[in-house]
Parts: sequence; C-alpha cells; structure tokens
Amino acid sequence: MTAREFLARKTARGVLEELAIVSLPVNVMDIVARRSLLFEENANFPPMVFGAVFRGGDTFGLMVSKDCFSDHHRRFTIAHELGHYHLPDHLERLLPHGCDIAVSLAGNFRSSKDPFEIEADIFANELLMPEKLARPIMKSSAAGLPAVYALADACETSLSSAAVRYAALTDDPIAVLLTNNGVIEWVARSGALWQHPWARANRKKDWAPRGSATKQLANDIPRVHAGETATTSCLMCEWFADAPPAVEVQEDAVGLGSFGRVLTVLHAPDLPDVDDVVDSDVGDGDDPPDWRSAMRTYRLD
Ligand SMILES: [Zn+2]
Repeated sequence: MTAREFLARKTARGVLEELAIVSLPVNVMDIVARRSLLFEENANFPPMVFGAVFRGGDTFGLMVSKDCFSDHHRRFTIAHELGHYHLPDHLERLLPHGCDIAVSLAGNFRSSKDPFEIEADIFANELLMPEKLARPIMKSSAAGLPAVYALADACETSLSSAAVRYAALTDDPIAVLLTNNGVIEWVARSGALWQHPWARANRKKDWAPRGSATKQLANDIPRVHAGETATTSCLMCEWFADAPPAVEVQEDAVGLGSFGRVLTVLHAPDLPDVDDVVDSDVGDGDDPPDWRSAMRTYRLD
C-alpha cells in the first residue's frame, strides 16, 4: 500500500470545513474538544516517540509526550494523531480488538515509510497549513527562508514542516533539505525545480557541500542549538552534480535548536524554465515523470 495523499488532504480539508475553521493558526485542541476526544499528556513515552491514539471505554483519545521539542512540534504531533482518528482505516489498523493504545511515529516527513504514518503526516500538514490560507502568506513574503518563517509563524508549525509545505506550494524553483551533522536526511523540491531532471537525483546520505552555509552551521553545534542562520551564494551544481554549471543559488540555512538538524532552503531565481518535456534517465528510484504530482515532496530521498 502506498500513502493516500489525496485522501489525507481531502480528509483534513473536510475537518476544517465542517468545523468552519477559516483562520490561522488552526487550534488543534479546539478540534480535540469538538470531537469529544480524550486527551492526555504523558511523560513516559519511549525515546523519540511523541504521540499515541488510545481507546478509552467507548471513545478514543490522543496522547502527547511531555518531551516534545517545542510547542510547534507538540501541535504537529496532535494534528498527526487527529489524522489517525479521522482517516479511514487508521483506528481499525492501529487499535485492533484487544489493543487499547498505539504509539505512533509522527514524522515531520523524516524517516517513516509506513503509509499510515505518512498519511497522518500529510493530514497534519494540510490541517495546520491549508493551501487556501497558506498561499497568500507565502506570496506576501520574499522567496526562500523568509517565506518559510512567515508560514511557520502564521501557522505555528515547525520550520521543517513549513519548509516542506512551502516547497509543495511555491511557483519558484526551490529545494529544502534537512541535514544532520552535515549529512542530508531528506530533500523536498518545488514543482518548478522538479521539472529539471538533474534536480531529482537522490541526495540522501550525501554530505552538504564543503563551502556551504549548511556545512558551516553543522560544524558549529552551539550555533545550531541557538537557532542561528547562515546565508551564502553558491552554484546549483555544488548541490546537484548534473545541474548546469553557471546556475547560481541562494542558500539560507538555519539551526533547528535542540532537534540538532540544519534546515536549508536553496532558491535559484534565475533558473530557466524547462519548456519541453525532457527525456532523461534520472533519479535513483525517484518519482514518475509527472512532476506536478504533489507526492514528490513525500517521496523524500
Ligand atoms: Zn502516527
């Protein structure tokens, strides 16, 4: 089974519509209350697990860890668990007869390959950053990291999930990357960048370029923990080896505090459009040629 992105987004939009939620930030606790769900904060989660759904008598509940990295992470986790509650087949699968609690790996698009977890992440992404409300915010901000900050501020989400949303919605050629100690964990590309076959190359587990702002930050952990930013201009071919040699890219990198990762936004304003269909053997098991498919941001390499 692959993750049902369309269904996940549609379900989230349906919840917003039904509850007449038309402004940001979306109040996830209000949704919990209006769905009459039980809610519990718990300090005894296993390491790196932050949320759960549970059965409480005739009803269901959500549980969130007291050890979430931040309020934004906590909101995302609650939204993810709301996804498990609302999405078809999830509760049946997570809480089969005789099972009263299921912890889950709310991922911020990190490493989960379980389609149910991916669907709950997509649901959370749409619930917290609905396209209709997110687009105007992005459009009123400068491209790159400023748009990610604006989105994260307005929607009260983590920078990394705002960045993934930004890549999915922007018309600009953008890549966002998450690195841990300078090693790439995932890349999300905008549609305008995905048009270029060289941009689809699998970069997971590669190093960030030596002279990059990302590497500079990664080499200075206190700066990562302090949430500092670094900016530089570089060449696209330093990030994507097969990119045309002269394409300049603006690189903004920001430390993600106690999460320990660096989030990087690459923006290439002068990258020409691909006008014709380019036939090329690209990718390492990457997406099918329909670059418009919003799934691209979840097939993280
Ligand atoms: Zn989950």
